[in-house]
Amino acid sequence: MERLVVIGGVAAGLSAASAAKRLKGSSMDVSVFEKSGYISYGACSEPYFISGMLTAPEDLIEITPEEFEKKRSIPIYRKHEVVNIDYQDGYVDVLDLINGKSSRHAFDYLMIATGAKGKNLGVPGEDLEGVNTLRTVEDAIRIQKSAVSGKEVVICGGGYIGLEMAEAFVELGKKVTILKKSSQMLLNFDPEMSEIVEEEVRSKGVVIETGVDILSFEGDGRVERVVTNKGDFKADSVLIAKGASPNVDLANKIGVKLGETGAIAVDRHQRTSLGRVYSGGDCVEAYHMVLGKPAYIPLGTTANKAGRVAGENIGGLSTEFRGIVGTAVSKIFDLEVARTGLSLKEAGAAGLDAYAINIRHRSRSKHYVGGWPITVQFTTEKETKRLLGAQMIGREGAALRINVLAAALYSGMTVEDVYRLDLGYAPAFAPAWDPILIAANKARKG
Ligand code: FAD
Repeated sequence: MERLVVIGGVAAGLSAASAAKRLKGSSMDVSVFEKSGYISYGACSEPYFISGMLTAPEDLIEITPEEFEKKRSIPIYRKHEVVNIDYQDGYVDVLDLINGKSSRHAFDYLMIATGAKGKNLGVPGEDLEGVNTLRTVEDAIRIQKSAVSGKEVVICGGGYIGLEMAEAFVELGKKVTILKKSSQMLLNFDPEMSEIVEEEVRSKGVVIETGVDILSFEGDGRVERVVTNKGDFKADSVLIAKGASPNVDLANKIGVKLGETGAIAVDRHQRTSLGRVYSGGDCVEAYHMVLGKPAYIPLGTTANKAGRVAGENIGGLSTEFRGIVGTAVSKIFDLEVARTGLSLKEAGAAGLDAYAINIRHRSRSKHYVGGWPITVQFTTEKETKRLLGAQMIGREGAALRINVLAAALYSGMTVEDVYRLDLGYAPAFAPAWDPILIAANKARKG
């Protein structure tokens, strides 16, 4: 019997475990080790648990360990941390975090799905009570409890998690301050687009301070203030939301090759540089189809797909994960915020000669009630008129509309191709000339 050991029991790990078991059945013994107390949790919904929209941590769980074991015949070991891998002899050492006992488990295949960790700032006082990062369900529970005491919440960082959490804290009646080093929120958007978001966030009473260097967190056991180059900010709790870095320590120790991004490098089958070791999710980089090289964009949608491809290949198929185009959507207060491909700034940084166009159009026909403006920005390559990226922001119709452009990027369309697309129209859903077509028309003339 072949043995597969999976490290990490969330999107990538469980997708791989399920796919391999489905293909190999009783001829493969699959075990999943997860160091937290939860598996199969949707970190993406944690802001909605913290805000109170979801009432219990269990609401974040997609499939329980009991269901997983029963339906898929895969034992799940929660609160079990893999502390050592011996690749040569093919085993892992696992520490039971409840009783402190160690055990050894042999493998023929290993799936590393250790995900990412929230970046810290590396300043004094980060270990004070009330200073948190958000990744696991335990983090979400701690943040929710922490927010109960006091009124003032400081968020360090203005990316999508920081902004989704700003909304959650406002829902809880907190006074929220966002501290940011750069002058722009959402750095993977172009400035004119992120300004729309910033205006929305400020309109909800959130204070945004830019150009801020955080020097330390201070308090007597529990955080009381954030010390910065722009003075002190009172804080009853703090969320550090500076992005994520891949959890590659175990992989690194056994000599798995890392890519230029610092995440694990894999081939299209999600195989690492060590033949029997596969990986996927937030600990790996993915081939970016617009850039034509690997990029590190840790998202759940990618983790699920890459995990499944790893499992299929472990299970004997030869399937490929073709890559990503950098699509991400978020709800920030009353706005749908969406992007795919490259912003103008990112295209420039990649050495591509590009231009941007920007339009504003209605989400529905003017002959139908409701509807809101959507702002659309395209990034287009000058010489070839290839679509390089798109951003959309509006109160409705922006988040899912971006998928048309994600598909366009996936198939390498020019803006002329996008302009000719046969998109659906009915007054309740879109104008006859959809905002996508209006933007494409402007971009092709650009
Ligand atoms: P993870 O979810 O990080 O899971 C890895 C697991 O491995 C962890 O549970 C960890 O405890 C475990 N582990 C690590 N080391 C060991 C070890 N040595 N032994 C045992 N276990 C170990 N993505 C989207 O696409 N859309 C969204 O809207 C979105 N919103 C998000 C909102 C928030 C607040 C957060 C935090 C993330 C969000 N994401 C979103 C990202 C998404 O949650 C991740 O991309 C996804 O969870 C990655 O899955 P993964 O399996 O690779 O890693």
